[in-house]
Amino acid sequence: MTALLQLEDLNVFYGASQALDGVSLQVAEGQAVALMGRNGMGKTTTISTACRMLPLRKGRVVFAGQDISGWPSYRAARLGIGLVPEGRRCFPNLTVLENLVAAARPGYWDLQQVHRVFPRLHERAGQYAASLSGGEQQMLAIGRALMTNPRLLILDEATEGLAPVIRREIWAAIAQLRTDGLSILLVDKTLSEILPFADACVILDRGRVVWQGRPDGLTAEVQQAHLGV
Ligand code: ATP
Repeated sequence: MTALLQLEDLNVFYGASQALDGVSLQVAEGQAVALMGRNGMGKTTTISTACRMLPLRKGRVVFAGQDISGWPSYRAARLGIGLVPEGRRCFPNLTVLENLVAAARPGYWDLQQVHRVFPRLHERAGQYAASLSGGEQQMLAIGRALMTNPRLLILDEATEGLAPVIRREIWAAIAQLRTDGLSILLVDKTLSEILPFADACVILDRGRVVWQGRPDGLTAEVQQAHLGV
């Protein structure tokens, strides 16, 4: 399988403090990869680096065969990296429909496709984003990213802080995206929700990759050692 995203030996610092120390991982075309680890281990830093929002001291980011290490984030986005950041950023004073249309770029993902995956966004089309529930805002954030027609969708803690029923709805939608063939890199902590559809898991501990493999290799020992489960 060809790698769509290839992170090689990422070394990233915040001032004098090193946040990533040689992180390497790959997302193959059509694969869903889960990036895991306890709080503060470097997950958000890794995806921010993949999106070219943080400078590299050493290492490379390769996307769709191009070395994008020196690129600004808007060019990385245009090449097909779609990020749904933590905190569900939407335009609160635009309607749901306006939020989606504002993000649109030509491709498979249009309003009809986004409404198929998130019927609630169709039902709420005329409402201001600010009036949506937290879960609906998360759906809108994912919908907006889809409207950019990314080749890789990156989700940072997509369901954190949401009620179980809405979490299930969002995970079902993410599973649907996976079935649709979208490549996905997701950051999350809840094993039971990730494992059913992740092709591979990567665990970070203090800025280093300490384990990677198929989800069925995540034994109780591995979980205990690296996830504190
Ligand atoms: P969480 O699950 O809590 O979101 P994480 O695994 O995503 O954690 P990061 O947010 O990538 O971890 O943080 C990795 C390390 O870098 C932590 O020690 C954190 O304190 C530090 N860090 C993160 N952002 C900054 C920043 N803007 N300035 C300085 N240090 C930072």
